Amino acid sequence: MSRTSTPDPTLDIIQQVEEPRMRENLFYLAKDPLPYRKLNYTLPGHEKNTLYEADDFIQGELESWGYAIEKEPVQVQAYRCDTAKTPKSSWFSPPLPEDPWYTAYNIYAKKTGSVHPDEIIVVISHKDSQSWIDSPGANDNAVGTVGNMEVSRVLANYDSRRSIWFIYCNEEHTPWTSATAANNAKERGDTIVAVFNIDGIGCKSPEDTEAGKKINVTRYTTPEGEQLADLMAEVNEAYEIGLIQSKYHRPTPNDDDGSFINAGYPAAVLNIGSYPYKDPNYHSEGDVAETVDIENAAMAVQATLAAILQIDRQP
Ligand SMILES: [Zn+2]
Repeated sequence: MSRTSTPDPTLDIIQQVEEPRMRENLFYLAKDPLPYRKLNYTLPGHEKNTLYEADDFIQGELESWGYAIEKEPVQVQAYRCDTAKTPKSSWFSPPLPEDPWYTAYNIYAKKTGSVHPDEIIVVISHKDSQSWIDSPGANDNAVGTVGNMEVSRVLANYDSRRSIWFIYCNEEHTPWTSATAANNAKERGDTIVAVFNIDGIGCKSPEDTEAGKKINVTRYTTPEGEQLADLMAEVNEAYEIGLIQSKYHRPTPNDDDGSFINAGYPAAVLNIGSYPYKDPNYHSEGDVAETVDIENAAMAVQATLAAILQIDRQP
């Protein structure tokens, strides 16, 4: 019996990641025209709040690549700001019952698999900026948002064997809307085989930035997550992406990947530029677009793409 070997398309695909496009989208979402992405801030003279304007931008880009968009509404509040707390990154505080409620949306762009449509790979990023302060949230998490958009764009015409869902959620208002996404998936009985949370990619200490290091840390909680972290290291080597790639075990779930672990989907990880997170501007006004290492972020996007393709190519 002879076997024809299909060429591995991964290298071609990851080379389609466009750093200039990521930069342009980043500045759109975290500087001009949108200084923030939050439900409680509307630009003077504008009809919609800045998070809804960001939603419109993300949705328009995804539609231009051929995706049909679904939006899942979640009721949330802005955090209050408690300047007495230290460090500054922990200033976010629970809202009071009388504080306003808003409808935040999870945005979905979905590819349906041609062989195993019932097996879903999730790529998730929170798109909102900090609701309790005036920060552009460029590294946290406009960079992950544009990274997810780039994965969505590059895979738009790829014939995937499994289904791939790109989810844009909200984590800087409360409650986190990824919990709704994960819990609704569980309630429907969806089979999610892997979750990649893209948040803070390429963001590391000023020393590491100064030294020109290109870093990705894959944070995991479960044995299934550790397999994904090992896969990230494998593809970084195999396709010579050039990241300093490492894995970090966090005993308890957290963030948007944690929402999926908590809902019963253990194969969930976070890709981030440093962990524990080393951005001196974390959750502050200084988290501006100019500080983003977009080259590092593009490399992390390539590695995430390669890992997704590796999972998808399995029979
Ligand atoms: Zn974040």
